[in-house]
Amino acid sequence: MTSHAVLAIGANIGDRLAALQGAIDLLASSDGVRVGAVSHVYETDPVGGPDQDDFLNAVLIVDTDLAPQDLLAACQAVEHAWHRTRDVRWGPRTLDIDIIAFDEVVSDDPDLTLPHPRAAQRAFVCIPWLDADPEAHLPIDGPVAHLLSHLDTEGVRRRPDLALVIPGAVR
Ligand code: AMP
Repeated sequence: MTSHAVLAIGANIGDRLAALQGAIDLLASSDGVRVGAVSHVYETDPVGGPDQDDFLNAVLIVDTDLAPQDLLAACQAVEHAWHRTRDVRWGPRTLDIDIIAFDEVVSDDPDLTLPHPRAAQRAFVCIPWLDADPEAHLPIDGPVAHLLSHLDTEGVRRRPDLALVIPGAVR
């Protein structure tokens, strides 16, 4: 059975765009994962954590035959492939991949909380998610466009000079 999942990707160390594109390429080549849509690229102020550099963020929509835990494992394998540093909670990272939503699944499992517990408060998730899916909605919280109307969007700046591509997609 095919499921739809929403992934948020972010990076704030090194070649950030290369990390985001690398994440897409590796995810697209993962068994049981197809990348269907990708958002514009945004430069964003860090939220929480220590003083650190700005992030590049984007959102992907994927179709997957995997169960949620297996998709998380695939995402974590991609993070590790980019030598993610995770010494400091909410600190700088080479590549971060969060599962924002997986079909209509609602779970409070700390290993995989769905939908992602902070997605509805994060403009750096909601803005690119609407690029990739203008009809986006969160289980329980509702339409993302409505959630976004209550969020401070100041720290989220589109980078029209940067773009991410889906491997094999006709442009
Ligand atoms: P972080 O370092 O903030 O990326 O958090 C990673 C940890 O969050 C991992 O141990 C995951 O098991 C857990 N986690 C819980 N819910 C999610 C989710 N929706 N997406 C990604 N990781 C999650």
